[in-house]
Amino acid sequence: VQKERLDKCVSKLTGLSRKEASALIKEGRVLVDGQAALEAALKIPVNSIITIDDDEISLYEEGFKKRVYMLNKPSDMVCADRDRNHRIVTSLFVEELRPDTLHCAGRLDIDTTGLLIVTDDGELIHEITHPKKEITKLYRAVTDKPIPEKAVSAFLKGIKHPEEKFPYKSAKLTIESANVGLVEVKEGRFHEVKRLFECVGCEVIELTRLKIGSLELDDSLEEGEYRLLSDDEVDLLF
Ligand code: URA
Repeated sequence: VQKERLDKCVSKLTGLSRKEASALIKEGRVLVDGQAALEAALKIPVNSIITIDDDEISLYEEGFKKRVYMLNKPSDMVCADRDRNHRIVTSLFVEELRPDTLHCAGRLDIDTTGLLIVTDDGELIHEITHPKKEITKLYRAVTDKPIPEKAVSAFLKGIKHPEEKFPYKSAKLTIESANVGLVEVKEGRFHEVKRLFECVGCEVIELTRLKIGSLELDDSLEEGEYRLLSDDEVDLLF
């Protein structure tokens, strides 16, 4: 197991600054796997259980906030908790404390890139992924052939794919250039965007998610990079 400095772990876990975290440690308020730890520079295994004076509720409540990350998903990783053949996206978070508690909010296909929310907040995952919530997701699709004009009205009307029982809900397509379309969907059904294009005779050769609700992918994040979201940013999801 990878090791990390205690003050860095406490800071990541609580959102406190490194200085504040190290003050807590010096005051003896931090336990690592039940043992008092007084050294901010102590290297601890990243899967250690950290306790901060559990009788100080306010700190506990504030400090152990759920973690919500925005990840720019790379194209060779899967959104799953385990997989025999491919790397899972949460393995990108190895330097984080307890990466095993992180899960993807919904699934992007292995070859899809872009905005993915990764969090330890189960309720938030439910909110983002539940079809009844109808949160819009915006994708940029590159197709093998020019996108026909008629696709715009077909997507809007709601198409039924041969392998689906029910037609898709209305989706908004903007043709950006001959082979590039921006598609806004509200459902997030299996291979939805790829299948929508299949219905109009196109194959999607590149797919990137740009937006969930009003939250846009931070374009300073390279594929495989992630960052924590602020509370205000989380609110943009809904
Ligand atoms: N639609 C798809 O076809 N694939 C994705 O990964 C997401 C939406």
